[in-house]
Amino acid sequence: MAGEPQSDCLFCKIVAGEIPATVVRETERTLAFRDISPKAPTHVLVIPKVHYPNAAALADAEPEITAELLFQAGEVAADEKIVESGYRLIFNTGAGAGQTIFHAHVHVLGGRPMNENMV
Ligand code: 5GP
Ligand code: ZN
Repeated sequence: MAGEPQSDCLFCKIVAGEIPATVVRETERTLAFRDISPKAPTHVLVIPKVHYPNAAALADAEPEITAELLFQAGEVAADEKIVESGYRLIFNTGAGAGQTIFHAHVHVLGGRPMNENMV
């Protein structure tokens, strides 16, 4: 069924607590945790607990959760004190764009100059 956990999905395993992660925020429907391979001083991933393969599929099926995901990304940025200096939100979509985990997620990146091309 749409949104159901996938047994071969790393982020579904993190949601289920089967794989550890450094969680920085959690709501009933979202989870935010530090990227295992940070590309900036702040590099947090915010994910919906439900499984959709990318942000567009999530937005199509679950617009409210998508809005919550973006709100939580902003809350992470505030917690990390990177609002004033600026931060970047990235949704890689498709292998050709560098997506490696096919469970929707937004990268929150900041804490260093973010005005060059990266990620
Ligand atoms: P993508 O390339 O799909 O947009 O982003 C996937 C991100 O997940 C990568 O930045 C990668 O470093 C991160 N990642 C991969 N495996 C793990 C893991 O086991 N734990 C955490 N916290 N992050 C992971
Ligand atoms: Zn998943």
